[in-house]
Amino acid sequence: MTVAKGSTCKQCRREGEKLFLKGQRCFSDKCVLEKKPYVPGQRAKRRPMKTEYYAQLREKQKAKRYYGVWERQFRNYYKKAVKRKGVTGEILLQLLETRLDNIVYVMGFATSRAQARQLISHGHIQVNSRKVDKPSYQLKEGQEISVAPSSKEITPIMEAKESGGSLTIPEWLEVDLDNLKGKLLRYPERDEIKAPVKEQIIVELYSK
Ligand code: SF4
Repeated sequence: MTVAKGSTCKQCRREGEKLFLKGQRCFSDKCVLEKKPYVPGQRAKRRPMKTEYYAQLREKQKAKRYYGVWERQFRNYYKKAVKRKGVTGEILLQLLETRLDNIVYVMGFATSRAQARQLISHGHIQVNSRKVDKPSYQLKEGQEISVAPSSKEITPIMEAKESGGSLTIPEWLEVDLDNLKGKLLRYPERDEIKAPVKEQIIVELYSK
């Protein structure tokens, strides 16, 4: 499933920030943003309107692109976050961060969130030993995530496993990369979430 039109790297250029959408390439000097650190297309020559609303829209767009979710899904996450006790912006990010596709990527079983979505949709991922083919599946504390036994040697998983050794696994996750399994130990705190997003600005946009 694609989320935005245009090439993947254009999404980063549009936001003027690395969104890490292309796996290992994003960490190398092949990253397009290093060579073209400006907004793509003709419109780049025009100066964008720097209104508060514009900034809020851009922040929301950045979050949607980073996690790979559609507008309607994103709004539903916000509605869920509002209903829960706590800081709405933080809860919004917690919900996005504990989607199955994000966790599969962060655990190193896929080289990007897009690839994680594909692996899940094709039935290669299990939660508590049962196949889950919904990338947006919301994980709960204590649940185990694993690659299906019959999928452990498929090329994308093998490649991800090879490059996954260099990943820093956050403390809220437990990962056994050799056996391609892990567990969501607890929900992440805000300072443990790496998303380059100012969530409070998004909350301001939706609270209008
Ligand atoms: Fe963004 Fe990665 Fe492309 Fe760089 S390589 S522009 S971080 S998607």
